Amino acid sequence: MDGQARKLIEAFRARYGGQATPRLWRAPGRVNLIGEHTDYNLGFVLPIALELACWVAAAPAEGELLRVYSANTGEERAWPAARAAELEPAGDWGDYVAGVAVELARAGYEIRPVNLLIDSTVPFGGGLSSSAALEVATALALLDGRPIEPLELARLARRAENSFVGMPCGIMDQYVSVFGRQGCALKIDCRSLESELVRLPEEIAIVAVNSMVKHALGATAYRDRVAECRQAVEAIRREHPEVESLRDARPEHLELVDRVARRRARHVISENRRVEEFIAACRAGDLQTMGALFVASHRSLATDYEVSCEELDFLVEAALAIPGVYGSRMTGGGFGGCTVTLVAPGERARFEESISAAYRNRFGIEPRLYRCEASAGAAQVSETGELLKTAISM
Ligand code: ADP
Ligand code: MG
Repeated sequence: MDGQARKLIEAFRARYGGQATPRLWRAPGRVNLIGEHTDYNLGFVLPIALELACWVAAAPAEGELLRVYSANTGEERAWPAARAAELEPAGDWGDYVAGVAVELARAGYEIRPVNLLIDSTVPFGGGLSSSAALEVATALALLDGRPIEPLELARLARRAENSFVGMPCGIMDQYVSVFGRQGCALKIDCRSLESELVRLPEEIAIVAVNSMVKHALGATAYRDRVAECRQAVEAIRREHPEVESLRDARPEHLELVDRVARRRARHVISENRRVEEFIAACRAGDLQTMGALFVASHRSLATDYEVSCEELDFLVEAALAIPGVYGSRMTGGGFGGCTVTLVAPGERARFEESISAAYRNRFGIEPRLYRCEASAGAAQVSETGELLKTAISM
């Protein structure tokens, strides 16, 4: 992280001038191991925070503006800091930053004039949650050390995406970006908002493969799925008023639901069960079962939930044909982005070579590969790149 810290400080000085040393903040992206499209149904998810992260350099500014430059997009945005509570969305990347400022201001935190420079190593739209990483890192930078409950930080970042950006996502991405822990996955109960650490067996490596495609259908389909799940709940509630979300639904309730919504609900019900089974297999070191549950999750997402695509299906099937692979599935919202694969550590290099070649031959696209190590959650970082205070200890 040393190199990244230095790069950020240099870029900050080049952009804003002066010798001032900005403070640095880092919030990770994540890969979800299992429990897909269950978070907004108040069920269970099992993500890990990644070393890929959004970094923000920040220093107080003269004048009255909250100013942000993204080294990734090469663009700048600025807003009057004192009017942060009244900002309106513009429909571009600046909304993620402005939305966080709005939520902080409404929660009673003064937004001060500040210069921000952001630089993220999380790919955009790859299903590894560059958006939550940006929101959480921005919130920490704007707070500048003022205390906040970690759960409140995650909820506030999610509200920015729900209300200001207009994406009805669940809590998973922001939660794990705040609460992630080195070496562990996090089982999140998306209703109680409690989590438990799940240590991963050492005999598996986790590789995310980026299909490098993002089909335009994705954003509308996500909203459609949220709505279809709500329809399913309404249909079940007519006879079982105690069912408040698909978290509470059982397989025998499915016959009360119409065709399409029934398949969506069936995915959510079975996926919640797979999360529990995966964790049990993880604790027993049963790598075969872990892999089989990955595959079952993918098939359910492809056929019942219909959020996969040709490229993701190909990557999963191709992975399963490579020696040493236990299981593979799409991860994130779908319609492109990444798959996640469990592979024997000794076979990882060969897997990476084989999957790249297969994908290149089939689609003429070079996929990007990420070796995933469970890393720590959001934190302030020193100018030499050490994690200082984490959000969960602030
Ligand atoms: P994902 O979260 O899976 O990467 P999203 O569509 O939810 O995909 O969020 C991606 C969007 O977040 C980008 O298109 C961009 O608008 C915004 N974003 C994320 N990181 C940055 C960054 N470092 N600079 C500018 N915009 C960013
Ligand atoms: Mg996102």
